[in-house]
Amino acid sequence: TLGTRRPLVAGNWKMNGTRASIPVVEAIRDGLTPDLASRIDALICPPSTLISACVAAVSGSSIAIGGQNLHARENGAFTGSISAEMLADLGATYVIVGHSERRAYHHETDDGVHAKALGARRAGLCGIICVGETIEEREQGRALDIVRAQLAIGLPKGATAADTVIAYEPVWAIGSGRTPTPKDIAEVHASLREMLDKLAGEEAHKIRILYGGSVKPSNAREILSVENVDGALVGGASLVAQDFLGICAAY
Ligand code: PGA
Repeated sequence: TLGTRRPLVAGNWKMNGTRASIPVVEAIRDGLTPDLASRIDALICPPSTLISACVAAVSGSSIAIGGQNLHARENGAFTGSISAEMLADLGATYVIVGHSERRAYHHETDDGVHAKALGARRAGLCGIICVGETIEEREQGRALDIVRAQLAIGLPKGATAADTVIAYEPVWAIGSGRTPTPKDIAEVHASLREMLDKLAGEEAHKIRILYGGSVKPSNAREILSVENVDGALVGGASLVAQDFLGICAAY
């Protein structure tokens, strides 16, 4: 189902972790077998405060480190914000853009997501653009319309596989233990891929589309084998090395 796309398993630690959590990254580094590392990309997105320590911890391994958010601009009077250039300076190579928690709690809009994705590209980072419907939107039969619009507005022109990953994360599946059926995931991913073909032309087939929302070792195999699912964005289960590795092992 992957075609030429290399799977990506990405961990999003959210606002969790202190320096005491570095052993988790070390355990993931040590637990990722050479065989798995040759077949999948693994990424951890810790809080910004831990990026340097995580980059040091994974040095010499194939594991990548990313940010969870960025400011769209390169620098300036934006107290408390962090730019893509600053993340790249620490050794981050990815950044999550437009996570539903950012959209809900920090009023991020699709236009804002677009600007941030451009910021990520400017600094040479790969932006993981998140889309997903709320439970109300799904119940109203609007899930496909919502995620397609989020992608159409959020995705910068000229997106490539080097600067863009898409993550479909139904808001109601995040941290809830609930997941869509494989059929529902397949429907959304097929729709996003069709949209990507329209938006990104020849590059589209190389751009990965991840699924996120309550992925754990026990459901990873079923979810990751769905057509057009090119990996996972993992929250809670990425905080436990064995769980994150168990999800990777689905490949
Ligand atoms: P979850 O979070 O795996 O804890 O549901 C996923 C996410 O928010 O990226």
